[in-house]
Amino acid sequence: MTNVLIIGGGYAGFYTAKKLEKHLRNGEATVTLVDPLPYMTYQPFLPEVAAGEIEARHVVVSHRRHLPKTKIVQAKVTGISASDKKVTVAPVGGGEPFDVEYDELVVTLGSVSRTFPIPGVADQAIGLKSVEEAVAVRDRLIANFDKAAGLPAGVERSKLLTVTVVGGGFAGIEIFAELRSLATYLLRSHPEITFDEVQFHLVEAMGSIMPEVSHKTSLWVLDNLDQRNATVHLNTQLMDATGGHCVIKTSIKDKDGNLTEPEKTVEFDSDLIIWTAGVMANPVLKNSDLPLEPRGRLRVRADLRVEGDDGIVEHVWGAGDSCQVPDLSGKGLPFDGSCVPNAQHAVRQAKRLAKNVTASLRGELPRDYLHKPAGAVAGLGPGRGVFTGGGKKFALKGWVAWMMHRGYHGLAMPTWERKLRVFGDWSEQLFIRRDIVTLEKVQEPRAFFEEYASRPKTDAK
Ligand SMILES: Cc1cc2nc3c(=O)[nH]c(=O)nc-3n(C[C@H](O)[C@H](O)[C@H](O)COP(=O)(O)OP(=O)(O)OC[C@H]3O[C@@H](n4cnc5c(N)ncnc54)[C@H](O)[C@@H]3O)c2cc1C
Repeated sequence: MTNVLIIGGGYAGFYTAKKLEKHLRNGEATVTLVDPLPYMTYQPFLPEVAAGEIEARHVVVSHRRHLPKTKIVQAKVTGISASDKKVTVAPVGGGEPFDVEYDELVVTLGSVSRTFPIPGVADQAIGLKSVEEAVAVRDRLIANFDKAAGLPAGVERSKLLTVTVVGGGFAGIEIFAELRSLATYLLRSHPEITFDEVQFHLVEAMGSIMPEVSHKTSLWVLDNLDQRNATVHLNTQLMDATGGHCVIKTSIKDKDGNLTEPEKTVEFDSDLIIWTAGVMANPVLKNSDLPLEPRGRLRVRADLRVEGDDGIVEHVWGAGDSCQVPDLSGKGLPFDGSCVPNAQHAVRQAKRLAKNVTASLRGELPRDYLHKPAGAVAGLGPGRGVFTGGGKKFALKGWVAWMMHRGYHGLAMPTWERKLRVFGDWSEQLFIRRDIVTLEKVQEPRAFFEEYASRPKTDAK
């Protein structure tokens, strides 16, 4: 039977498998999904997980439970050979890598955090691409408040109470604003700490934040953050973060690249540094014979088939962040007109891709992917949000936009089983407020046992 192999079970991979299960007739094809993780992650909820507004497990969707007709292989793809129609995978449980053959290959490997060689960042910073990172951020902030409450004023205390976010895109601003709201909430239970002691710094290299919203709306967000004692440093770069000591440099230049005012360097200690300054296509694609564009994304046609200089690469398809898909709506990225890497596109591309694969198995022609972006909505902490639509001409701010954020994402969360858990978390908090317990010790579950466990006596000679 024809085997459709999907590599990457995030947004695009999960939806491709789900829709193939729906479209394919019995006996028409088997579907196999390879991913090192047993679940897809609803990444737009990571800031709310970090802020303790949604229980972490509720923002991931189990492959095995929700893709009952798909064969799940929990492994990491390490190489792709389109010429041999096979993919090499390394099982997560260990053991030798092995090859998986395919008749149709769907590449949905997503993106990874893009970093720069800044001293200290690799050792100190936490990314925000996985639910595990979001949990670690929440635990760290709460634990730091607990520790700081018992310390006298000084460098160590202020380091624990300083949060730094690098990157002023959607994800950066959302996590910054959500953590600010969590920190303010924590002050109720930590009377030893004052509002002014808690410092929030966001470092953004460009002169504005959130390119997805209009300039006017982004100014409103900046103003809102400023009122909440959360400082945004525009035109600023993180130069060093060694040992949590951050050195940031502000350089304001005109359009010819000349400085318009003297450069300014600011230094502070920060125990929690979150890196959200951009993403890049999954680098494993470089270990393949597939056609990639200069930024490392897979070259994909509007009908989601992969195409190189010599024409279509037969039986290979792609969708999501790891692919350069032309945006036929004309609202694509300014430098090449391809779809913006976001969930809105990933999920819709996946739905089109599943239809196209099914059509091609039946000898029919695939159709082009076309989606006109509906706008963008961001949550900035309970009761605060922004929505922008109509090609950035229309904007809503505050409470209404926050309700729209929750309504949209709550309903966009895949499967009713998961939607109900998320809405359940939100409803609970209306009555009993957010939980501030951390289980940081889960990182070392054997520690308690090891400390007290009796050991066999050694013969004393
Ligand atoms: C904090 C945050 C907030 C966001 N908010 C929004 C938002 O509000 N709206 C919006 O539209 N978009 C948002 N996005 C972007 C959106 O989540 C992504 O665009 C979307 O997840 C892309 O889907 P994807 O399937 O291409 O990649 P992913 O969902 O990242 O899936 C990639 C999958 O590939 C798997 N994988 C990786 N390496 C391998 C390998 N070697 N072998 C096999 N599998 C592998 C991964 O485990 C993962 O399951 C946000 C992203 C982040 C990080």
